Amino acid sequence: MKKLTYKFSSSSTDFYFAYGISHLKEITDPKATVLVTDENIYNAHTKRFKGWKTIVLKPGEEFKVQATVDSLIEQLIAYEADRKTTLVGIGGGVITDITGYAASVYMRGLKFGFIPTSLLALVDASIGGKNGIDVGVYKNMVGVIRQPAFILHDMVFLNTLPQREWENGFAEIIKHACIKDAAMFKDLESMSLKKYQKSKTAICQLVQRNAMIKAKVVQQDEFEKNERRLLNFGHTLGHALENQYELMHGQAVSIGMTYACQISEQLTGFKHTEKVVKVLEQYGLPGYYSFDKQKVFDVLKMDKKRERTEMNYVLLEKIGKGVVKSIPLNQLEKIISKF
Ligand code: ADP
Ligand code: ZN
Repeated sequence: MKKLTYKFSSSSTDFYFAYGISHLKEITDPKATVLVTDENIYNAHTKRFKGWKTIVLKPGEEFKVQATVDSLIEQLIAYEADRKTTLVGIGGGVITDITGYAASVYMRGLKFGFIPTSLLALVDASIGGKNGIDVGVYKNMVGVIRQPAFILHDMVFLNTLPQREWENGFAEIIKHACIKDAAMFKDLESMSLKKYQKSKTAICQLVQRNAMIKAKVVQQDEFEKNERRLLNFGHTLGHALENQYELMHGQAVSIGMTYACQISEQLTGFKHTEKVVKVLEQYGLPGYYSFDKQKVFDVLKMDKKRERTEMNYVLLEKIGKGVVKSIPLNQLEKIISKF
């Protein structure tokens, strides 16, 4: 059990690492709290919700839409939630996103906290204050940046996490290692997904280390002017692939990282693409992938990171050191067409 506080521009977040949900009542008053979760998590962990007002949503990215927020708000009204109410999102990235967003707009803003239950949410989605919903094919099109008051980690939820969701989470962990932490990259090389799943201490330490990497990057640049952009490593091509092929986020990002390494070899002199691909594959993730270059480039060039005719692309100088480089679109198109 370890408590750490990270200060952001206008608020701070208390991290309760390895605490257990039983400590939630010491952090927020059950009488003035509403929990938000999804059916999968509620069904697998029903007893942990006993004694708490709980709203259960349908699981999955397709429900990360305004209609779900509307139904959540109606249920909050039914619970007579007021400005003193705290919302706690208990789930993966979809639940933390929706909860943070609904809490930010209900009665012009309630306090909220998270108990992330997926590996991806533990190391990435729950941290940094980006909360929002999808609109049609546009991911995270509507939302806010508002930090949770607290994030509590209860590793017991991971016992029921499906295998593919573990792999999904490891894509973001490997991303953090590539851009920020060469020593962690070495650890990942010497370990495996199975070993982490078997060792409570190892996974617990890994999750904390990654949550702290993300929190620190966000703290330095909450509104994504420079440093926070590094977290987009693998995501520019990744998002374009995710939109067009039936890939999970982690798989798409993993392929995105592989090709970002290759682009790095041409533009920064990076030499270790094969090492990165090996680690990705070690954790059940894809490296190279055959895709329609033209189609994917057409989507990619519309990315939020584009600035007129140049694209801000996250590359590696070496393992553990990510850099943002502005690449002219025509040069990028040429490079991608040769993959
Ligand atoms: P993310 O990958 O961003 O965390 P979701 O919120 O969609 O996205 O979670 C991924 C899937 O895993 C969902 O179907 C969710 O219900 C399920 N899930 C999340 N945490 C757990 C858990 N601890 N046990 C079982 N299923 C879980
Ligand atoms: Zn991601």
